[in-house]
Amino acid sequence: MAKLNEKNEAQRVATDGQDLLVVQNLVKYFPVQGGLIASILHKGKIPAVKAVDGVTFTIKRGEVFGLAGESGSGKSTIGRLVLRLYEPTRGKVIFDGIDLLKLKPEDMRHIRSRMQLVFQDPLAALNPRMTIGQAIDNPAAIHLSHLNADERRQAVLDILHQVGMNPPEAYYNLYPHQISGGQRQRIVLARALVTHPELVVADEPIAMADVSVRSILLDLMLKMKQEFNLTYLFITHDLATAKYICDRIGVLYLGKMCEMGEVGEVYEYPLHPYTQALLAAVPVPDPKRRRTTKMPEGEIPNPINPPTGCHFHPRCPLAQAICSQKEPEIRELRPGHTVACHFAENFLPKE
Ligand code: SF4
Repeated sequence: MAKLNEKNEAQRVATDGQDLLVVQNLVKYFPVQGGLIASILHKGKIPAVKAVDGVTFTIKRGEVFGLAGESGSGKSTIGRLVLRLYEPTRGKVIFDGIDLLKLKPEDMRHIRSRMQLVFQDPLAALNPRMTIGQAIDNPAAIHLSHLNADERRQAVLDILHQVGMNPPEAYYNLYPHQISGGQRQRIVLARALVTHPELVVADEPIAMADVSVRSILLDLMLKMKQEFNLTYLFITHDLATAKYICDRIGVLYLGKMCEMGEVGEVYEYPLHPYTQALLAAVPVPDPKRRRTTKMPEGEIPNPINPPTGCHFHPRCPLAQAICSQKEPEIRELRPGHTVACHFAENFLPKE
């Protein structure tokens, strides 16, 4: 466990030393802008988008933990809450034993170099007026202030080399529009890694990349994980990608965790109808193994006014009366495999 400065040591809480990140009952409600009219329509209560509604998970050191779900499930919001780019409504985020939500903003700066975000859209993430060298030097200047300008330049060249931009000197003075999309994603990764973080929150990091380079980028992320001893929170809507890179996975629906477990376990024995539907939507190359379950009809409901009981019940092909009345508890039905469904026992493998 790394030594922290005195202020941060004061916020240290007891955790399992193996856990790098502990997220407990995390909630984020975004008040809806609408002022008086919204207030009148909702009888005096200011409505809120319930983006994240009581999510709990842990990530062990060196693990790749995936958060999966459709657009609007809350997965990207959780990534930003973990980094405290958004302030949670309530809940706990404990990083390396430090309760982040108790840190003052200035104390978060010491922790930020140890936690980095890789954005989905590298073109939007990179300033078009900054060269690649400047873009990577920017976080280095903030978080590696003990290095002088020459040492920082060398650090930038080293990280460019490590992400496969060779020779690095040839790329240092180029602008983002002068390189390919796949190369831009390497630059975004280099910029995140130059401060040698421990946790990387990767938000759909290959979603904007050309299909032909996606597996190359995933392999690069796995290689960087080994070289830098990284832990990833990997956010994706694509369960095929999650299967490739993640050790464990949590499936989110409308701000709540439906199912969580080791990837092999969840993919082999999905216990929640929503996970089953997502897996059914993953293309399978072998026609004999094609799954028969169809993705449920309909959109994710309005998160301002989510369905009662199980949030998934309006779309669930297996819903019964209790599903709209009572929220299912999260239960561990197989070792390390939890699920929130009243009828998940029906999907347990026959012994
Ligand atoms: Fe479907 Fe009911 Fe299970 Fe929810 S609790 S996933 S509605 S069967």
